[in-house]
Amino acid sequence: MKTYWIDTHCHMNDETYRDNLDEYMQRAWDFNVHRNMFICMNRADLEETFRLKEKYPYIDIAFGYHPEDVDKITDEDMAYMERIIRDERIIAIGEIGLDYYWDKTYVEEQKKLFIRQLEMANEVNKPVLIHSRSAAQDTYDILKANARTKVLMHCFGESNEMMKEYLKLGYYIAFGGVVTFKNARTPKENAASVPLDRLMLETDCPYMTPVPFRGKTNETAYVRYVGEYIAELRNIDIEDLQRQLMENYGRFFGEEN
Ligand SMILES: [Zn+2]
Repeated sequence: MKTYWIDTHCHMNDETYRDNLDEYMQRAWDFNVHRNMFICMNRADLEETFRLKEKYPYIDIAFGYHPEDVDKITDEDMAYMERIIRDERIIAIGEIGLDYYWDKTYVEEQKKLFIRQLEMANEVNKPVLIHSRSAAQDTYDILKANARTKVLMHCFGESNEMMKEYLKLGYYIAFGGVVTFKNARTPKENAASVPLDRLMLETDCPYMTPVPFRGKTNETAYVRYVGEYIAELRNIDIEDLQRQLMENYGRFFGEEN
């Protein structure tokens, strides 16, 4: 079987890419990145991504309201979400979670939104993709109490102890460009020690550009650099790593091989 890279978290539906999307998708294909999870954070993102999936059927789609948008989410948005997540093109709920990094004004509202979206994921039995920044304990507590489907911790940046707690709950851990940064000691240690059958890779583009393009705009093709870095870090053959990551992705999303 031919192996390839999977970007489990990208924002290629961002306006950054809109005018040259074909070029970016072609480069991803040429870089052997043959599956891309497009994260949709609102209705416009989602409708755009449904259109893109017509052209690129290997695009996967997740939908969820980001914690930083909490003050903009209306009752109508919640009703839309409840309806649309039953669509079979949406295979995950996310990114959802907590973010106290810039703004702690809406902590209670963030928690409420997070819990409600976890409940919706439970209702439709779809896995969740979790964003957590500067909110480690609250994220853990809420997930433990409310998540009843598979959980992927996106762009994992917490401590090794916290990672172990999530692993105990059966969760998966995704790493992005940060692991390639020289000073990212903890992410490197976590990426080196996470069990291989719980590992996923991502770009989170347009953010978090990996070395050797750090400082430039990120794109989904660059998950390859994250993958090559981790293969070296773990002293594992590229194709073996790809095969393992493909297996993990299939298992996580309940695809039968
Ligand atoms: Zn993201």
